[in-house]
Amino acid sequence: MEKILVTGGAGYIGSHICLKLRESGYQPVVLDNLSNGHRDALANDIPFVRADIRDRAALDDTFKTFRPTAVIHMAALIEAGLSMEEPASFYEVNTAGSLNLLEAMRQHGCWQIVFSSTAAVYGNTNLEMLDETLPVRPENPYGRSKAMIETMLADFCSIYGLRAIALRYFNAAGADPAGRAGERHNPETHLIPLALSAAARQRNGLKIFGSDYDTPDGTCIRDYVHVDDLAAAHIRALDYLIAQTNSFFDIVNIGTGKGCSVSDILLFCQEVTGSKFPISTTARRPGDPARLVANPAKAKSLLNWTPRYADPREMISHAWSYYFDNSEKS
Ligand code: UDP
Repeated sequence: MEKILVTGGAGYIGSHICLKLRESGYQPVVLDNLSNGHRDALANDIPFVRADIRDRAALDDTFKTFRPTAVIHMAALIEAGLSMEEPASFYEVNTAGSLNLLEAMRQHGCWQIVFSSTAAVYGNTNLEMLDETLPVRPENPYGRSKAMIETMLADFCSIYGLRAIALRYFNAAGADPAGRAGERHNPETHLIPLALSAAARQRNGLKIFGSDYDTPDGTCIRDYVHVDDLAAAHIRALDYLIAQTNSFFDIVNIGTGKGCSVSDILLFCQEVTGSKFPISTTARRPGDPARLVANPAKAKSLLNWTPRYADPREMISHAWSYYFDNSEKS
């Protein structure tokens, strides 16, 4: 069975990708420093290396021991808001850490990588939909740290012959429909899990960060994509890269093409949970673009990927089931 090294594989999206890899006949090997991930998010028999992507010796050992066919590289700091306070950490972990990983791949002859990029690279635009040909203009250091990695990948592909696909994630949401994995960040900063904890009365209501954006209801619009669909997109990208014989680089949005405002999401959370938790408005969160909605056409044409769950209510409903069944876990 082909082994796939999954950096950051014990995190929210990573744990769903590991489920899909196994269902698709691949053997995941996870490398994660557990700064945000959880060992118990993964089946016990998945090989697990507790290490940081900045630790070259640990990467060398991992490549020598497991000889993976490809890497799915997700390990990163992910909070755009935090990156406005601590940019250095984002460049160190995300950008320098990725360079370290790419150098280890080159040394050990591993030539395929699916990279977790982000819609944050687009920054503020007034466009209905974002397509991959737009210039990148990230609004925050998080987006810039990821845009730099895309640039490095392009160079490694054209000069060293790497094969890479950067998936620009829009807003991952939901949980495994069978309840085997879900979202557990600590501290939690994401909209839907925070709203669900408010619905469960584990926190006192939810604050909307800004209602004076240039959008129909004044709150930010995002494209929420089910984590199970997002995981499936990685398998498509991996299959695609493994079938390539020459160097290859491309960038693909993974979103549904439908925008949903913060207010809409909160109303859906109240509807799905049946809990009318209090909602108030506070100041904008620095670095938040008003609208980020994918043009998903390339995901369909290149990877034949389309989302199975496009309604945010389904995502919230799966997340709510997971929340309910796992609320005792930290
Ligand atoms: N948001 C909010 N209140 C919160 C958390 C998030 O209004 O307590 C907003 C946030 O400003 C953004 C949207 O919800 O417009 C999605 O934020 P999240 O952190 O979930 O994902 P991001 O878009 O930053 O990747």
